[in-house]
Amino acid sequence: MKDFKALQQQYEIDVYPMRDVVFVKGKNSRLWDDKGNEYIDLSSGISVANIGHSNEKVAQAIAEQARTLITCANTFYNDKKALFLEKLFSVAPKNLKKAFLTNSGAEAVEAAIKFARFTTKKKNFIAAMKGFHGRTMGALSATFKKEYREAFEPLVPGFSFVPYNNFEKLAEAVDDDTAGIILEVVQGEGGINIGDREYFQKVRELCDEKNILLIIDEIQTGFCRTGKMFAIEHYGIEADMMTLAKSIAGGFPMGALLCSGKIQIERGKHGSTFGGNPLACAAGIAAIDFMVEYKLWEESAAKGKYFREKLEARQLSKVREIRQIGLMIGIELKEKVQPYIVELLSLGVVTLPAGTTVLRLLPPLTIDYADLDAAVEKITAVLA
Ligand SMILES: *Cc1c(COP(=O)(O)O)cnc(C)c1O
Repeated sequence: MKDFKALQQQYEIDVYPMRDVVFVKGKNSRLWDDKGNEYIDLSSGISVANIGHSNEKVAQAIAEQARTLITCANTFYNDKKALFLEKLFSVAPKNLKKAFLTNSGAEAVEAAIKFARFTTKKKNFIAAMKGFHGRTMGALSATFKKEYREAFEPLVPGFSFVPYNNFEKLAEAVDDDTAGIILEVVQGEGGINIGDREYFQKVRELCDEKNILLIIDEIQTGFCRTGKMFAIEHYGIEADMMTLAKSIAGGFPMGALLCSGKIQIERGKHGSTFGGNPLACAAGIAAIDFMVEYKLWEESAAKGKYFREKLEARQLSKVREIRQIGLMIGIELKEKVQPYIVELLSLGVVTLPAGTTVLRLLPPLTIDYADLDAAVEKITAVLA
C-alpha cells in the first residue's frame, strides 16, 4: 500500500493542522481509515455531510448527471439548474427571491459584499468579533481572527468589528456609509455562540431604519443543522441576503447567495465559471429532497436535545458549559481542547475544535441513537 500521508506531505501546501488519519471511505455517520479502522464522525467534514457520508440518493444523482451533462456555461439555460433553484426556494425563507450560485461559502460571501456595495452605493461593513466568513480577501475582511488576517493586509477596506450579541456597540459602529452588517445567527468557528433573539430583532430594525443590508451567514447553520431548515427561523427576522454552502449539495462543492427583492446587481458585474454547474445542481436537488423527505430538521432538534441531556447528566468535571442548538453542539472546557480531540480520535470518534477551549460537535443529522450513545460514552471517558 502506498504511504498516502507521505505523498500528501511531499506535495500539498502545508496550511492545514493535520490529524494523523487517512480516511478512505464514509457511510452515514461512519468513516473508515486506510487500515480498516472504523470511526464515529461527529464533525460531518465541518457540517458538510448533514445527510450522511456518501448519501445514496446524492451518489445516484451525481452518477446519472455525470453521464448526461457535467458542465454548462452560465450564459445558457440548464434543466438541472432551473430545477435546483425551484427546490432551493421551496425551502428558503419566503422573502428571499433570487440566488447567485457559487462553488464555496467564501464565494457566496464575496458576492454578498459586492452586491451590498452595488445596491446601497455605500462602502462600509460591520461584522462580529469571533465571526468567521471565509478565507478569500473579501470574506477574510469580514472574519475577525487576527491570525487569519494579519499576514495578508491590506484587506478590503471598510470593515469594522463589534462584540457579538451587544446591540449598543453595534449601533455605535454604524455610520452614514454603512452598506451592510454581516453576522452568523450562531457563530460556528467562534465557539458555538448562540445569538440572542432580541439582539437580532433589534439589528433588523436598525438595518431598516438606516437603510443597511442585513447579511446572514448560514453556511454552517443552514440545512437543518440547528433544528430548523435555516437557523434564522429561530429568530423571527428576515435577512436581505443569506449565504449558504457546506451541506447544500450533500458534500458536493456548492454555495449560494440568496437575495431579497431589495438587492440589485447588473448583468456583467459578477459571474462564475463553475457556479451552479449541472453536477452540483443535481447533487443539490437530491440533498434537499432527502432533507425534506426525512424532515431532517426534526431529527436534528430531537437528537440534539437527547445528546445534550445525556451528556449533561454525566456532570463531566472538565466541562464548563454545553451550548447546543439542534445538532450544533459546543462543549466549553476548563482547559485546552486539542489533547482531547486527539484522544477521542484514537478512541474512534472524530470531533472538531472551535477556538482553543471548545469541543465542537456537528454530527451528520442522520446519525442513529446508538452512535450518539456510543459517542457519549467515549466523551465521558475522556472528559470525566
Ligand atoms: C465554512 C464557513 C465559511 C467559508 O466557507 P468555504 O466553503 O470554506 O469558503 C463561511 N462562513 C461560515 C459561517 C462558515 O462556517
